[in-house]
Amino acid sequence: MEKLKITTLSRLHTLVLLSSSSRHGYELIKELEHGLGKKVSSGEVYPFLKELKRLGYVSVESTGERDMKTYKLTIKGKKFVEDVLNNVSTVIESMIASKVTSCAHCSCKVYGKSHVKKIKEKEFHFCCKYCAEAFGFGDCHV
Ligand SMILES: [Zn+2]
Repeated sequence: MEKLKITTLSRLHTLVLLSSSSRHGYELIKELEHGLGKKVSSGEVYPFLKELKRLGYVSVESTGERDMKTYKLTIKGKKFVEDVLNNVSTVIESMIASKVTSCAHCSCKVYGKSHVKKIKEKEFHFCCKYCAEAFGFGDCHV
């Protein structure tokens, strides 16, 4: 099966917007600009929408006198977005996990900066200075 690659944040954001409700192309661009905080060109968005349509992930309806197109996720498209979001959360979880250490004393999880204490040339990480002290103290009496 052909796989559509979601390689940019604006693509991901487009899918998330479409999964909440159907939208006109220009609405999508405006909301993307708002969400991403930068200029988004139609040359970025429309080829992607076209690709989504080709793969059967969106249906396109023309509405109004100016023949504006409304893009709507199909059932197949919704399933695709679900898969993409599952993958994204797995990536984000592993990114967070790589920043998490466990306290050597109480083994609670520490995100970001931990208390480091060197014991016999080995670095130990702790959630707080009290754990660091308690651990060192225990070590002396073993
Ligand atoms: Zn601790």
